[in-house]
Amino acid sequence: MKPEILKISVGDRFEMKKPHPCGSKIFTVMRVGSDVRVICEKCGRDMTLDRIKFEKSVKRLTEHKEN
Ligand SMILES: [Zn+2]
Repeated sequence: MKPEILKISVGDRFEMKKPHPCGSKIFTVMRVGSDVRVICEKCGRDMTLDRIKFEKSVKRLTEHKEN
């Protein structure tokens, strides 16, 4: 089986493998490109990860926004 390619869209909420320092694991996608900018749901801080790193640190998609 081929590994699934992760689809990332603005507004999607992801659960990460590692929690943010504030304790939340849920992040909302703000911008997608070669980098992915996400905002922590609990404390509102944002962070930018390169896409490959982001895909590796995602545990699961919790909510997908349809366009
Ligand atoms: Zn946080």
